[in-house]
Amino acid sequence: MINLTSDTATQPTPAMRAAIAAAAVGDEQTNSDPTVNELKARVAALLGKEAALWLPTGTMCNLVAVRTHTQPGQTVLADHQAHVLRLESGGAAVASNVFIEPLPSQYGQFTAAAVHAAIPFDMVYTPPASLLCVEQTHNLGGGTVWTLEELTAVAAAAREHGLAVHMDGARLLNAVIATGTAAADFAAQTDSVWIDFTKGLGAPIGAVLAGSAAFIERARRNKHVFGGAMRQAGIAAAACLYALDHHVERLAEDHANMQLLARGLRQIDGLRVAERVDTNILFFEVTRPGWDAARLRAALAERGVGMVQLGQRIRAVTHLDVSRDEVATAVAITAELLAA
Ligand SMILES: *Cc1c(COP(=O)(O)O)cnc(C)c1O
Repeated sequence: MINLTSDTATQPTPAMRAAIAAAAVGDEQTNSDPTVNELKARVAALLGKEAALWLPTGTMCNLVAVRTHTQPGQTVLADHQAHVLRLESGGAAVASNVFIEPLPSQYGQFTAAAVHAAIPFDMVYTPPASLLCVEQTHNLGGGTVWTLEELTAVAAAAREHGLAVHMDGARLLNAVIATGTAAADFAAQTDSVWIDFTKGLGAPIGAVLAGSAAFIERARRNKHVFGGAMRQAGIAAAACLYALDHHVERLAEDHANMQLLARGLRQIDGLRVAERVDTNILFFEVTRPGWDAARLRAALAERGVGMVQLGQRIRAVTHLDVSRDEVATAVAITAELLAA
């Protein structure tokens, strides 16, 4: 199986499993798991923030962050394809009683003008906006990267209206590797930011949310509210530390493999490949008469190539467990299927 469905499909490597087995552990709920504490300190330093919070998933990072930044009845601005809006079962609304105002965007990125335009006018009838969410890289946008300049512009617009800025940085490190911009420089534009260890970094469990010491203290209480406090979580955090040491620089390989995939798919008649392919995610549509996304996905799966169908689009993602040769094979199989 050539699994291009998601960068969450990775298996922990033998060396990562060895790090897990050797982990020193304690009670995470009381901040006394030494491995979790080491990971939090590493991530806070990486992101240039005062403090960090260990959480089981990225979804819970968004859940906790939105809850910590907002009051019930307020508005959260996020682009119209944001993960926090489209792919979290409505968690922000369910758990925090907020509205999400979807911003028009291209490849998941909106402009400062769109932020200004979405601010509710100040009347007793309107739900005041308190938070702007940005996603780096953007999942449904196709792994697209906000440049520091673009990010700075929308963050400044949000601050003009007194909004906090939260970054869903599930794949922030892909953006760092793709651009050469430091993680802390992106993070400096935000009040809170998190990274996921179960995407391209290849760990089995865990995400870390970072922000000011005061923000993290309040977020810690919300983590308990949502049942996210754990016990000997160092078992999982050890894999994340291993990933920070060994799986960050190699994201460049995933990006190079993705360029190979994009070039290959663009040469196939009957596919329309996204113009922007910045990191390790690619979307394409099937334009060949008689075919559609569902049929091609199923035919690929039968030939051992896994991709995901989202409406009329197919998504492919490169990662640790997909080699350059396998990407070339996936292109050849796709071409063969559509030529038949
Ligand atoms: C995967 C993902 C999440 C959720 O992370 P989980 O660890 O799967 O809960 C949130 N935002 C984005 C952009 C993602 O890609």
